[in-house]
Amino acid sequence: MLRDFFIALSQNQFLNQAARKYGLKLGAQSVVAGTNIPEVMKSIKELNAHGISCTVDLLGEFVSKKEEATEAKENILAVIEAIHENKVDAHISLKPTQLGLDIDYQFALENLREILQKASGYNIFVNFDIEDSAHVQPAYDILDDLLREGFDNVGTVVQAYFHRAEEYIQKYKDLRIRIVKGAYKEPAEIAYQDKKDIDANYLKIAEWHLLNGKFTSIATHDHHIINHLKRFVEKHNIPKEKYEFQMLYGFRKDMQLQLAKEGYNFCTYVPFGQDWYGYFMRRLAERPQNLNLVVKQVFNK
Ligand code: FAD
Repeated sequence: MLRDFFIALSQNQFLNQAARKYGLKLGAQSVVAGTNIPEVMKSIKELNAHGISCTVDLLGEFVSKKEEATEAKENILAVIEAIHENKVDAHISLKPTQLGLDIDYQFALENLREILQKASGYNIFVNFDIEDSAHVQPAYDILDDLLREGFDNVGTVVQAYFHRAEEYIQKYKDLRIRIVKGAYKEPAEIAYQDKKDIDANYLKIAEWHLLNGKFTSIATHDHHIINHLKRFVEKHNIPKEKYEFQMLYGFRKDMQLQLAKEGYNFCTYVPFGQDWYGYFMRRLAERPQNLNLVVKQVFNK
């Protein structure tokens, strides 16, 4: 299957390294907002001008060396500083494996604590993105440790494809939660495989969190889900301050602008950095039509 093929490519270390050297290629520039902080700040300002807030993701994941995790931490601290200095409407999204979760739990915890401390000083929110099933529990464990320490500027993601999604959404009801379908290939023992089952679970947990949770980020490009939840919030009089829609940078741009124009809170997930390859391959896996981006780029030279 094409999906499996692109997911396998996304995890290929050699290709990840090669892509790092050669800069944004293959059409990735339409879905990755640059390779450095000045470039990403420019993209954020453009989105802010349309009333869209941003969550910034320094690309990088599955880091296996301490030096790489430390470099990622320093770069994320620099992004936080840049958000503050540029006075942009933006917060941080990060992947716990990028900060060393695969290397050493305590080391990753210290890196994440430092990031939350700095962000907290500027009143900036930090979202822990959630990765494949092997990393879900360790990431939630670190989150729990940091919540116990009293941080209140942190939230996370619940992936609707997991059978345990309902349990997770209830556990984290007092946090700002992003609900997604789930981007990784997971076995049938733990995750729904069919789109209709995933979509049904998405709606179930999203409705529950909208009614009971602190703040819900409805992250999807699926207009069926968006339209359903628009009707749901209206019917239940859920105030706009309690939720937002989120989409990825470069996808369904017209719909992003339209939702913002209709007065909904809208937040674009803005990835940037040299490690664009794994992210880009996962987007191709989700929607092979995105291959159009690649084809256009190759032939428009
Ligand atoms: P899909 O099921 O991909 O699409 C449903 C339908 O929507 C399609 O059939 C089509 O009709 C329409 N559609 C979709 N895309 C387009 C398009 N570009 N143009 C036109 N029509 C389109 N996953 C994780 O596992 N962990 C995370 O932390 C995480 N964070 C995310 C943050 C954000 C802001 C977003 C948007 C996604 C995130 N994801 C994350 C990815 C997510 O899990 C899905 O893999 C991804 O969003 C694809 O699913 P979808 O909900 O967009 O809808």
